[in-house]
Amino acid sequence: MKIAVLSDIHGNRHALQAVLTEVNKEAVDEIWCLGDLVGYGGDPDLCVELARANFAICLAGNHDLAARGDLAFEDFSVGAELAARWTAETMRPDNLAYLKQLKSERIEEDLALYHASPRDPIWEYVLSTLLAELCLDSQARRVALIGHSHVALSFNRPAGEPATGEARRGGSEVDVAEGEWLLNPGSVGQPRDGDPRAAWLILDSSRWSADFRRTEYDVEGAAAAIRAARLPESLAERLAYGQ
Ligand code: ZN
Repeated sequence: MKIAVLSDIHGNRHALQAVLTEVNKEAVDEIWCLGDLVGYGGDPDLCVELARANFAICLAGNHDLAARGDLAFEDFSVGAELAARWTAETMRPDNLAYLKQLKSERIEEDLALYHASPRDPIWEYVLSTLLAELCLDSQARRVALIGHSHVALSFNRPAGEPATGEARRGGSEVDVAEGEWLLNPGSVGQPRDGDPRAAWLILDSSRWSADFRRTEYDVEGAAAAIRAARLPESLAERLAYGQ
């Protein structure tokens, strides 16, 4: 099966629409999302509508849990907290109801999906090989998909060897047929790896290849939506730097 894997959209409908346009050229079987449809960005309702129309699987991220009332706003950093409160107040009830039924992990036949990590699907950031080893020990399938850190990367542990990790640029294609893997597509709506383009992944589970992608989008449009919502200026500015 050929799957487009998206994560951390964060209310950025400009980025999501650009990625969906690219996905539609790829004849994928399904689109999966690892969570955080909302939070930070100025268009949460539009993003949830696109999710409802396009995603076969969607997880709940920490920001989705806050918007729907299942996490305390105080658990977030200041900018994220303001955005979470605004998101919860702004969103349409039917879109909040969609968020309400999402789970933070899901185990498929060949793949395990977690918003953040196999050990803690809601909060843990997997950015070191030390932590990746612990995650590889506890993931439910040989290949796991994670989001949350907003950094496109892969961790690999061949049989009997220690894990190694690599940040993944757009255009890098990885053979994941052997060994254990943790794959993070990076963030559609708020990349934090220095590349402002929307990050996503095509995973082919019959060939076992992972193809990391980047897509340019209207960053100024997304920043304008954040300003129109009167959310912190820093949330608009960081999009241009990919941080
Ligand atoms: Zn996120």
